[in-house]
Amino acid sequence: MAQKIVAGNWKMNHDLEQSLQLTEELNAKQLDEDVRVIIFPPALFVQPMSALKEGDFELGVQNFSQNTDGAYTGEISISQVESVGGTVGLIGHSERRAYHAESSELLKSKVDHAVANNFDFIFCCGEPLSVRESGGELAFVKKQLQESLFHLTANQIDGGVIAYEPVWAIGTGVTASVEQAEDMHKNIRSWLVEVYGTAVANNISILYGGSCKPSNAKELFSCPNVDGGLIGGASLKATDFSAIIQSY
Ligand code: PEP
Repeated sequence: MAQKIVAGNWKMNHDLEQSLQLTEELNAKQLDEDVRVIIFPPALFVQPMSALKEGDFELGVQNFSQNTDGAYTGEISISQVESVGGTVGLIGHSERRAYHAESSELLKSKVDHAVANNFDFIFCCGEPLSVRESGGELAFVKKQLQESLFHLTANQIDGGVIAYEPVWAIGTGVTASVEQAEDMHKNIRSWLVEVYGTAVANNISILYGGSCKPSNAKELFSCPNVDGGLIGGASLKATDFSAIIQSY
């Protein structure tokens, strides 16, 4: 069965003091034991947050290198992330695709590197507004998955995590309707069934991301194929983020 997950992507927000304060606030919250909770702070703060962390949540990075080590200025390796307490990484967030020219090929190599190193990841996908408006969203998202993720074997993808994040809903305040979210998630599940069979498909968590907040999380999480959320703006406040977790 797919694990329930609520993850918070802080993006390039918060300084050290704010990050530690939020860690303490999250330490004090009673987080739902059935839900895997992950925070993706700026990578700089994984170590100090990890040292302060007492609550039942994990820390991850918003990006990591597809290389093991060496002359890659500005990059961070999986082993470096693990050495400071990070357990998971995002791959292919739309902002990395758009502003850092991350190609499907590059994302595929990050997926392979994570699998080879037994490092958990959340693979992000989602269509821009122009594609949604022209009715091409299913083909677009399917292609993203085929190009960078579906080359994995059933064993490699089993228990993995996909986040569907329509670009037009990220940071805009516009949320996909329950019908739009469930329709895409249902299709992603059916493609997983086609490629990997029902047992593996049902074991993969498909998260929704895009202006998810305390007021709409319950409705979104009640969709049969929505296994949780990847939360941006609303994860920056411990009260909002824990309210979203409690929505389950
Ligand atoms: C995100 O960037 O992953 C995201 C979902 O952002 P927001 O919740 O702010 O739309």
